[in-house]
Amino acid sequence: MIIGGGIAGTTAAETIREQDAYGSIVLISSEPYPLYSRVLLPRYVRGNIAEEKVILRQLGDYEERRISLYLSETVQSLDMEKREAYTNADRTFLFKKLLIASGGHAAPWEHARAESERVLRFQTLDDARRIISATAAAKEKTAAVIGGGFIALEFLELFVHKGFTTTLFARGAYFWEHVLDENGGRLLEELFEIKGISVRHGAEISDIAAQPFGLVVQTKDGRRTEAALVGVGIGLERNLFFVPAQIARGTGVLVDEELRTNIADVWAAGDVAEYRDGSTGRRRVTGNWTQSFVQGRIAGSNMAGAHEKFHAVAAYSVKVFDTVITQVGDVEREADGKDEVVSRTDIERRRHEMFVLRDGRIIGAILVNAFAEKSTLAELIERRTNVSSHKSSLASLDFVLASLL
Ligand SMILES: Cc1cc2nc3c(=O)[nH]c(=O)nc-3n(C[C@H](O)[C@H](O)[C@H](O)COP(=O)(O)OP(=O)(O)OC[C@H]3O[C@@H](n4cnc5c(N)ncnc54)[C@H](O)[C@@H]3O)c2cc1C
Repeated sequence: MIIGGGIAGTTAAETIREQDAYGSIVLISSEPYPLYSRVLLPRYVRGNIAEEKVILRQLGDYEERRISLYLSETVQSLDMEKREAYTNADRTFLFKKLLIASGGHAAPWEHARAESERVLRFQTLDDARRIISATAAAKEKTAAVIGGGFIALEFLELFVHKGFTTTLFARGAYFWEHVLDENGGRLLEELFEIKGISVRHGAEISDIAAQPFGLVVQTKDGRRTEAALVGVGIGLERNLFFVPAQIARGTGVLVDEELRTNIADVWAAGDVAEYRDGSTGRRRVTGNWTQSFVQGRIAGSNMAGAHEKFHAVAAYSVKVFDTVITQVGDVEREADGKDEVVSRTDIERRRHEMFVLRDGRIIGAILVNAFAEKSTLAELIERRTNVSSHKSSLASLDFVLASLL
């Protein structure tokens, strides 16, 4: 049994069927659609591609592979002794082997209240449809974006693309402060300003008030900004509500290198899985399409009897305002203050590279218009190359990263 019909769950189901012609496979998913691409949703909302292009599987694909698919159905709880799953459709499923591939949902935002039509989130195809109708229906073309990170970037690009006068509310002193260094944050903000976006720093939202003409975003400093729509990109919360206490968890479901949980014959994969990153030794969750696919494949093989191990350097790229922003590896800084940041910026070419180092090794990087360095960095991270003696050179634009390999 597989919980979650996203890329991780679907890939696992298909992999099991490739390796086992007879076993019965049940795939349960809360959403009403067969597999679709979340990665393509931004292009769909901008009107660059039709909805059909986003849908990656037809119902017949599941039938052909004899995968019993239950859509619009949610597993509410699990009994690990009886090996039973209970759904909101009052159905009970018995399982021998279980994969949790339940992904995540947009983290709740206290100010969203009942304003779901105008306070927009961006995680599902239904969200994308809501965004399309809300942007079309808005009489005043004004928008606010809350948050820092990839979803906030997608909202900025979308609103500008649709001709909205846009204000970005950044909590810190510059955009995406908890990940980027100041030069990187400022470089992106210059780009936003060229596109007509106003940036408000240190903006703690105190309320979103509904008015007949739209919304008013109020900040703790007492300022009020009118916006027909608000796009919120404040992160992902893992879907764990149905996971019983016997299954160990942190931010996500804890897994070992074979993606096994602490309970026999139960695996987890994709955004919901919390694994130990081989290159840093840290536990982490990621929100990453390719990685969810790879984990789905490995979990599927292992459910069919293999012992494959997961190891990869996560990478994620988006293109906004003709600028490619790439994250490689782990860029989260720990509270112990041991992570160091080294960066180099070429202002004229709008290029920025920020490296996060721990114990003398690069563990992650953010690249702005420097996509070509991605594979070199992934290799340096994977090999755990000690770069301590090159720390000052790393900050120079003339230094060739590949010389460290
Ligand atoms: C707008 C957007 C753009 C993105 N762009 C990129 C990109 O450019 N590059 C990149 O690498 N990544 C990108 N991502 C992230 C990437 O799409 C995700 O990492 C990936 O889709 C996660 O796949 P998953 O299968 O683990 O989980 P999900 O896709 O979240 O699928 C989990 C499914 O399980 C269902 N479910 C949850 N709980 C239950 C339950 N109890 N019972 C039944 N079903 C349940 C959920 O409803 C959901 O349908 C983007 C994400 C978004 C939202």
